[in-house]
Amino acid sequence: MSRPELVKKEIAGISEYVPGKSIVEIAELYGFDPASVIKLGSNENVLGPSPKAVDAIIAHANNVNTYPSAVASELVDALSIYTGFSVDNICASGPGMDGLLDNLMRLLISPGDEVIIPTPTFSYYSIAASANGAVPVYVKLREDYSLDVESIKKAESERTKVIFLCSPNNPTGKCVDESDLRSIIEYTRGLVFVDEAYIEFSDSDVSHLVAEYDNIIIGRTLSKAFGLAGMRLGYGLMPSWLKSEYMKIVTPFNVSVPSVFAGVAALSDSEYLNKSITCAREGRNYLMKNIPFKVYDSQANFVLVDVSPLKSKDVTVSLLEKGIIVRDCRSFKDAGDSLIRVTVGTTEQNKKVVAAFAAASKMLKSLEYQ
Ligand SMILES: *Cc1c(COP(=O)(O)O)cnc(C)c1O
Repeated sequence: MSRPELVKKEIAGISEYVPGKSIVEIAELYGFDPASVIKLGSNENVLGPSPKAVDAIIAHANNVNTYPSAVASELVDALSIYTGFSVDNICASGPGMDGLLDNLMRLLISPGDEVIIPTPTFSYYSIAASANGAVPVYVKLREDYSLDVESIKKAESERTKVIFLCSPNNPTGKCVDESDLRSIIEYTRGLVFVDEAYIEFSDSDVSHLVAEYDNIIIGRTLSKAFGLAGMRLGYGLMPSWLKSEYMKIVTPFNVSVPSVFAGVAALSDSEYLNKSITCAREGRNYLMKNIPFKVYDSQANFVLVDVSPLKSKDVTVSLLEKGIIVRDCRSFKDAGDSLIRVTVGTTEQNKKVVAAFAAASKMLKSLEYQ
């Protein structure tokens, strides 16, 4: 028995978020020892967590009978030092940046409002927006994955509330151009959300625009460069007027006690952060040079591989059979059927990835002889 009519009608058209495959799933499917499976499908930090964050989690384990500070003030103070922004511009968020997106949609969207989403990109924007009654308006990125500013402006209507931009973009690895961004911010009547989940790995940060414009929000996370994906910790940088509104509707106590203190510790562990950044930068260069397919230039801790004329589905399976989990991008709207996203691994993992793609490229030869 089921009663789908009880679920609000906005949910009917939403497809569930497709996460990367887990180690347990793949180990079971192929009969591997889980310890031998290499997971490069979710852009997690391959260095493990910061030891300082682990110590902080243990040290605060005895306090989990109490609520955290309602607004995660210890964490917001640490974020203020890390970002250089005033606490009036910072909202900490759990679970992760995804929680920030959800709260913002709840704050901003009335049924029938529109959001503009350049594709292919991270799929949770459309889920969070649609669940709150928004109509997603999709605008394709250009062939080279840069923003099509003119088409974005054409997509704007009286109902436009938010334009979602992702820089570096997941799954393409490309950053938005600052003058394109300014032009969009100045044109739109809505807010521009810039997702900087991977910003620590990149050369171009646009967060300084928060001091200049009253309609930009930057989304950040401690899941990637800070290695805390399992703590579910994110934050937003936004104009102070928006923070005041946001604080009216935010779920109280939404960052857990261990997360608050893990975040504070990780933000102060610059040795770990620098290692993460070096690992991503060196590793992506190595993958770009050595994977025998087209690899897009990336500013993040992953690379996007175009395996055409092969299919991403077939190459992904051939890597899975070798115990390497990567992300087949077919689930990303407008990504086609030949793109694979690969998280940059450790030196040893990257060598295995290159060998596995080289083996897959032999499928090309057999195509040629058909
Ligand atoms: C990983 C990721 C996030 C999610 O961040 P959480 O803080 O883990 O929720 C947001 N945006 C993009 C583009 C991501 O890749």
